[in-house]
Amino acid sequence: MAALAFNALAVPTPWQKITQPVAGSPQAIGAFANGCIVGARPLQLEAANYQVLRPDQHRYFGHPDLLLFIVRLSNQVRNLGLGEVLVGDMAMPAGGRFSSGHASHQSGLDADIWLQTPRQRWTAQELLKPQPLDLVAANGRDVNPRLWQPQTMMLIKLAAQDSDVTRIFVNPAIKKQLCRVAGPDRAWLNKVRPWFGHRAHMHVRLRCPADSRECQDQAPPPAGDGCGAELESWFLPPKPGKPPVKKAPPPLPPSCQALLDNHLVAE
Ligand SMILES: [Zn+2]
Repeated sequence: MAALAFNALAVPTPWQKITQPVAGSPQAIGAFANGCIVGARPLQLEAANYQVLRPDQHRYFGHPDLLLFIVRLSNQVRNLGLGEVLVGDMAMPAGGRFSSGHASHQSGLDADIWLQTPRQRWTAQELLKPQPLDLVAANGRDVNPRLWQPQTMMLIKLAAQDSDVTRIFVNPAIKKQLCRVAGPDRAWLNKVRPWFGHRAHMHVRLRCPADSRECQDQAPPPAGDGCGAELESWFLPPKPGKPPVKKAPPPLPPSCQALLDNHLVAE
């Protein structure tokens, strides 16, 4: 879930040292924010209907289901004449924790999709240093009306209607706008969840693949379109009290720890 600015304090993680997917049949392991992946595949960088941002970061790996989802979504977007999908962070070759930006994207089932769909392809230089379009107004309560377009909702709706997708994270102001403009067809809004940041991209999360036995799914979001009190709570001033205590990260799932240990021994 990269914010607009990259985390200045990048902490190296051992997962960055794994530069090739781990051989084996594809298995997403553990939780989205504490896991890894065996048998990841690289997203094809040369494609007609999408482009991959910051390919130099090598975060374009994922479970084959994630690759299929991106192809499906970008074909739909192209067929509707909405432009081209821009793909941000997916996972590293063996998943695991990034050095910066976000805690999830660890099990090969998360992808950041930018909320702009350009009609012209970006140059290699633009892809290496992409300029995010901040859709949220300065007050943080609404979208910027000059930048919001009908296709922004279409893109999020198409992703939410995909049966492999369980959650999509967007800024609360973007969720509020979707609630306002969705019209009577609102079932898809259930999967669209307000979260910090996410002003220029949506974070799409897939369900655990059926044959990934060690993959930990999340409980489904609460019923309904999520446009009521829960959304409102994001716009209330923070309650006074002690700031939340930062918890130590949980131990890695044993299979991920073993994978890391093996790799470091082989180095
Ligand atoms: Zn993300």
